[in-house]
Amino acid sequence: VKAKSMHEPEPSSEFTLINWFRQRERSRPGRGTTLGIGDDCAILGVTPGCDLLVTTDMLMDGRHFRLDQYGPEAVGYKAMGVNLSDIAAMAGVPRAGVVAVALPRLDAIAVAQGVYNGMRSLAEQFQVELVGGDTNAWDGPLVINVTLVGETTSLGPVRRSGARAGDIILVTGALGGSLASGRHLRPEPRIAEALALHAAAPIHAMIDISDGLSSDLGHILEESGVGAVVDAESIPIHPDCQAMSRQDGVPALDHAVNDGEDFELCLVVSAENAARLLASTPSPAKIYSIGAITDAPGLRLKLPDGRIVTVGPGGFDHLRATK
Ligand code: ADP
Ligand code: MG
Repeated sequence: VKAKSMHEPEPSSEFTLINWFRQRERSRPGRGTTLGIGDDCAILGVTPGCDLLVTTDMLMDGRHFRLDQYGPEAVGYKAMGVNLSDIAAMAGVPRAGVVAVALPRLDAIAVAQGVYNGMRSLAEQFQVELVGGDTNAWDGPLVINVTLVGETTSLGPVRRSGARAGDIILVTGALGGSLASGRHLRPEPRIAEALALHAAAPIHAMIDISDGLSSDLGHILEESGVGAVVDAESIPIHPDCQAMSRQDGVPALDHAVNDGEDFELCLVVSAENAARLLASTPSPAKIYSIGAITDAPGLRLKLPDGRIVTVGPGGFDHLRATK
């Protein structure tokens, strides 16, 4: 980060605040940005032969986070992270972001700077240039909306709709309990992992796990017109699930299956390619095989005792009812 100039005053208005952002973005190498902050629109060059990916997510104080508990940096970090995770889920390369904020009037500028600094740390890591936004203050709570633009690689995007019977379901990391440790605030977008896996083998379908495996794998099944059997014993259960279980008495497996905000990827590849990827996983990805796609619809879970139960989206009730 560039040292702050002695002559740069602290921003005190919308205009000087936007200039404060602009100063900081100016020194960043953007991926093909022709014009960043400062005009009516940003201008982005487009790589010939690639498609653009566009995604947006809004986070609201009191609904998705608590500003008084987490602080503005954590909010900015998460707002950037959830959008990057969506780009990862399409096997895309992030390019540029625009950020709209409704700032609480009290402390508006300090909150805006904190949010910016939080976003920057991830933007830096993934070479995302902040090319514009909209800045408002009001008597309501903080609302932040990040929109990211990415590009497909020459291999094209990966959708949710390409899973076929006989394919294998993989996840890129341990699942569940992210609330217990605050891990839900520090998403690690699996951009490099998705690109490496996609380059190593065609990915038939992919999604990021934001709402929980049962819901998000459910989306793949729905969009692909297939079903799945997941083997409970092969799900990588995050250690955070044990902490959650101690707090709420719900089994760790339920947490791994139903909790959200892991921001790992769930992907589907042919059985042949799954075997190849498991034998030799392209860096920096990690993968765990958790089950198989079936013609029969619905998501079924094979429990350690051999019983097979049907899991609905968010699956809590059904899974609990079968215990
Ligand atoms: P307009 O009125 O034409 O929409 P604004 O005065 O809202 O322009 O914004 C001026 C410039 O500052 C634009 O380039 C806009 O994208 C950028 N900008 C405004 N708010 C932000 C923000 N929170 N983060 C980054 N850029 C911003
Ligand atoms: Mg304008």
